[in-house]
Amino acid sequence: MQKSASIYDLSFEELSALLETWEEPEYRVSQIWEGLYRHLWNTYEEFTSLPKTLRQKLEENYSHDKTGIDAQPSFISLQPIMKQESSDGETVKTLFSISGGHSVEAVLMRYAKRRTLCISTQAGCAMGCIFCATGQMGFQRQLTSGEIIEQVLHYARQLSNENEQVTNIVLMGMGEPFHNYEATMAAIHRLNDPKGYNLGARRFTISTVGLVPGIRRFTSEHSQINLAISLHAADDILRSQLLPINRKYPLEQLYSACLEYIQVTHRRLSFEWALIQGVNDTPEQADLLAQRLRIFRMGGSTLCHVNVIPLNPTQKYSGQTSTHQRALAFQSVLEQSGIPCTIRLRRGIDIQAGCGQLAGQNIRA
Ligand code: SAH
Ligand code: SF4
Repeated sequence: MQKSASIYDLSFEELSALLETWEEPEYRVSQIWEGLYRHLWNTYEEFTSLPKTLRQKLEENYSHDKTGIDAQPSFISLQPIMKQESSDGETVKTLFSISGGHSVEAVLMRYAKRRTLCISTQAGCAMGCIFCATGQMGFQRQLTSGEIIEQVLHYARQLSNENEQVTNIVLMGMGEPFHNYEATMAAIHRLNDPKGYNLGARRFTISTVGLVPGIRRFTSEHSQINLAISLHAADDILRSQLLPINRKYPLEQLYSACLEYIQVTHRRLSFEWALIQGVNDTPEQADLLAQRLRIFRMGGSTLCHVNVIPLNPTQKYSGQTSTHQRALAFQSVLEQSGIPCTIRLRRGIDIQAGCGQLAGQNIRA
């Protein structure tokens, strides 16, 4: 029987309250927590230090029956249904089925010593950005905090078999993290917990399409988690065409929320820019962007950074990737104005693993 409750949805306090109702001593909470997040155990059988009765209770309440090759019952609810590796083997994309008949993807990118995961926060997305495969699918459902965490633990286990570990996590997979604010933050805090998985807050990057109330709420939390804003256009007319949410939160509001973030946190903000040939890679767009971003220069330093990434073409959008030459020209306009700009590579392009346009192609395939 497939159970809906996931043990990964529980915070430490919730697990603690649960064990209290089961009349278990308090130290069992840490034992279970460490088992889940340090040893990465996912079957109740692995918890050999727990009494059999408690293991049975955990099994009854939190085990999910598995189908397919790995038919052992486990705490994991996400079922990997497809895996693709890039030709150089450095990028791995896994498609997971989740309850409700949906699926989400998570990608592992190996680069030098970094082991970066790109994970999803929603199945589909309600924001409808026209160039994004996830946006083209529409909204399906929110992921729970446990489902967000499970994507990480899946790769953490795989890497730990190779004596490696996850070094960075970007929330740039399917979905808009600030449209699923509580679950996203709960997942990050749980993974950040020193008693458990213990991945530093600075190792996480949340990418948002620019939901202004979400940015303000995030600012008020004074967190060390990195923030990236998907900008993609320097004027409201173009931005509203590409990212419909811009009609609700136009650039002036967005920049003011960004400025407040920088003033409050003194942290550098990233702006994401998918270069689309002839659309947003023009010298006019670069000039306007450079002008606007001047507000983020404070006390001799520029507290923002622009990441340009060549567009990954998608089925339902006719825009094309900019040439490298145009990307270089765009970058040079920004840099001449003192705005740092990096041209990012599209890793795992041969497996369509560009973050933000994850599952679309595969779901349709
Ligand atoms: N919803 C969030 C995070 C997921 S999208 C956001 O929009 O920021 C992650 C990043 O991938 C965003 O910067 C998004 O604009 C970008 N992206 C989406 N589709 C893309 C595509 N086809 N090519 C390049 N980047 C894309
Ligand atoms: Fe959603 Fe981000 Fe895609 Fe826009 S770019 S549709 S916000 S996932």
